[in-house]
Amino acid sequence: MNQKNIYELIIIGGGPAGLTAGLYASRARLKTLLMESSSLSSQLLLGDKIENYPGFTPGIETFELIIQFKKQALAFGLKIIDEEVQTLRIKEEKNSKLWQVVTKQKEYTAQAVIIATGAKPRKLNISGEEEFRGRGVSYCATCDGAFYKGKDIVVIGGGDTAIEEALHLTKFVNKITLIHRRNRLRATSILQERVFSQKKIDFLWETQVTGILGKEKVEAVKIKDIKTQQEKKFPCQGVFIFVGFKPNTDFLKIHPSSKEKNLIELDEEGYIIVDDNMFSSVEGIFAGGDCRHKLLRQVITACGDGATAAFSAQRYVERLTGRAYDFK
Ligand code: NAP
Repeated sequence: MNQKNIYELIIIGGGPAGLTAGLYASRARLKTLLMESSSLSSQLLLGDKIENYPGFTPGIETFELIIQFKKQALAFGLKIIDEEVQTLRIKEEKNSKLWQVVTKQKEYTAQAVIIATGAKPRKLNISGEEEFRGRGVSYCATCDGAFYKGKDIVVIGGGDTAIEEALHLTKFVNKITLIHRRNRLRATSILQERVFSQKKIDFLWETQVTGILGKEKVEAVKIKDIKTQQEKKFPCQGVFIFVGFKPNTDFLKIHPSSKEKNLIELDEEGYIIVDDNMFSSVEGIFAGGDCRHKLLRQVITACGDGATAAFSAQRYVERLTGRAYDFK
């Protein structure tokens, strides 16, 4: 194969992990291509502002942060294209193993691949959720909040996302009822302090939403008291669902419905299993950010993963091509 058409590294994903990996790989002068997909935009953009990425007081707009990440990587020569990856295939050559990254448009070849595809909002899978999506059901307060001016809405979930998004929604709506299946929140303490002092937000504890009701648009949710198992209708005009995330790793599953082995090792929820240096279970494939199995999914940890994955990939490629620095 013509070496000109082979990338040393392909990075899949244009969020904080992917862009940081791109920055490091470009500075290491690896021939690198980053693939981002407008249909899988970074989870970071679901929020409006970030307060716990170091260096910015009192925080920075999430859109601005991503733009800055991108600008910095581009300044060091990173090549970025907008193509969604459909599959990843191994390509055995005479003396080497290469990876083929297949998008709708084209096939690309690389010696190493970093997967940084992030995660997407998890669904509740209840009746009415799909039917009313965009007509009262939303997974993004930043995108849709302004449509709910003066309305009464419910927010479902008890984690950082649910609380941050509920606080953001107070700028627009009349009243929020936060519905959580437990009797306490999972969210970090500073967010709890803010949400409990917000007069527009009420709480329904130990309550599950079991259905979404309406004619043209959402008119109510069906709720169930977990202790008594009693069900009733709760009127509302909007339902914002923040019940966690699902990794964007389906393209690594050879046959999602079959028992055949996946391309690389995933945990039971589909998160990629890597070691401390971001090596996946398969040689030449690295992963980082929210799509990998780990304790803390934050922008700062995603950036750390991206830097480590790029450094590991650099050393891997340099070993393959006989230009590795011999660390004593
Ligand atoms: P999360 O931490 O996984 O919380 C999901 C919430 O949804 C939990 O309260 C969970 O309840 C609830 N839930 C899950 N499935 C449910 C179901 N079927 N029915 C009802 N409730 C359900 O997800 P997240 O809040 O989206 O956060 C994801 C990651 O991003 C976390 O690591 C978080 O710290 C991070 N994050 C950080 C920031 C920040 O630092 N500024 C902002 C946003 C997100 P249980 O508690 O009962 O499981």
